[in-house]
Amino acid sequence: DRGDGTLAMTAHVLIVAGSDSSGGAGIVRDVETIAEIGARTCLAVTAVTVQTHEAVKQVEPMPAALVARQMRAALSANPVAAVKIGMLGVAATVEAVAGVLADHPALPAVLDPVLAATSGGSLLADDALAALRESLMPLCLLVTPNIPELAALTGSAPAKDEADLICQGGMLLAAGMPALLVKGGHAAENRATDLLLRLDLPPLRFDAPRLHATMRGTGCMLSSAIAAHLALGEDLEESVWRAKSFVFDKLGSAG
Ligand code: PLP
Repeated sequence: DRGDGTLAMTAHVLIVAGSDSSGGAGIVRDVETIAEIGARTCLAVTAVTVQTHEAVKQVEPMPAALVARQMRAALSANPVAAVKIGMLGVAATVEAVAGVLADHPALPAVLDPVLAATSGGSLLADDALAALRESLMPLCLLVTPNIPELAALTGSAPAKDEADLICQGGMLLAAGMPALLVKGGHAAENRATDLLLRLDLPPLRFDAPRLHATMRGTGCMLSSAIAAHLALGEDLEESVWRAKSFVFDKLGSAG
């Protein structure tokens, strides 16, 4: 937007994520979501994936140094007010992203700890989990695991109830994570309750009826929507509420 001063000043979200050729998830979803909420986007591509809605056929991680350079260029080119981090693919990329975030401590980052596609294909190397937990997660304002992701991150069996979720979330908070939004959408109940967990604060419940629609990319949408609302100046709780209702409306119209 050179030549258009007003647009150029609009809050940007820096998307750090992978592409999904099917359009169901990844960068396409992130851009659509953030644009619809009214923030602008800039981008660091972490990986190119070949996917249909049924399978992950190929994953090509970008070189980690290229990811970091994209991030630094995006940050210097735009007034970035929040970061959304999705698929990272390999440990070197996790470390590279952490290195850039460490240089921008005031910038709020929302991390969707993507491990696999709904189709089952892996999107994060097994040896990258420790880097995610130890190097990157502590630098993020919010991490948004679902139940299987929380189990993988804590080396636990998948939580069966809310007490399990709070216990597993507590392990990550104790290890230095500022806040977690644990997505209950994969629990076997007819409510979809997400829990916002923070040290020294009671859990906050974000409760919605379970919709019987299925849609890919809801994790991408939720974390992008939270980042967009943070970029527009809302606080964490308000951003989560608004992002939840955004995804709920999309799921409703998909069902
Ligand atoms: N592909 C990419 C590039 C992603 O970033 C993600 C999730 O963030 C997925 C696929 C998984 O999406 P889904 O679980 O909807 O298949």
